[in-house]
Amino acid sequence: MTTTLALEQIMLSPQYGEILAAVRAATPVAMLDQLDAATTHATRAAVEAAALTGGAAVTASPPSAVPGWLRLGLLDALTRWADGTGSTCRHSPRPDRPEPVLAAAWRPGLVTCCQCTHLWRVSREAGLTCDGCGRVCEPDSIHPAMAQMAGLIFMYGACGDCRPAITPEPGPLRRPETAEQDYPRGTGRVRPRGSRGRGRGRGVRR
Ligand SMILES: [Zn+2]
Ligand SMILES: [Zn+2]
Repeated sequence: MTTTLALEQIMLSPQYGEILAAVRAATPVAMLDQLDAATTHATRAAVEAAALTGGAAVTASPPSAVPGWLRLGLLDALTRWADGTGSTCRHSPRPDRPEPVLAAAWRPGLVTCCQCTHLWRVSREAGLTCDGCGRVCEPDSIHPAMAQMAGLIFMYGACGDCRPAITPEPGPLRRPETAEQDYPRGTGRVRPRGSRGRGRGRGVRR
């Protein structure tokens, strides 16, 4: 079993809450502080990005509420970043120095800092492709959104069929989290993916 699948199994376990608590208890306090700061920072960035595009930040809990393709994509980004098989931006963010970072469904294996949003621009064709089912859709029908786990913000675009049906809940965001941008790209304030260099990551810069 790959690390990604093993992590997913843990995440879907009924004991996930207890496992998280045990991992936190075993993590050095200084590292935990950094991790929590990165998480808070990433949440703020995701909420601001969602607000900028007319969307809302909503909580998806438990992890089973997140579609498998999205959960696995996020975990794959995390594990490839952690085991060094992925690539990063020139600022080389590292998992052992927690900070808010970006990853995306349309570019597996890449994790960047939040400044390097230029690395997330998508071609027109990729911008019309649903990251869930792989279908090339009509312009304006891909919904850009983000999911967050700790300090990692995972960007994706989904068609109406694949868009996670997540019910907003009040209260502080908990991992994993999803920031939905409620306007289909190309309508209102949101432009189609790949249009004049406006990447989906824009608005998340710090
Ligand atoms: Zn960078
Ligand atoms: Zn789809």
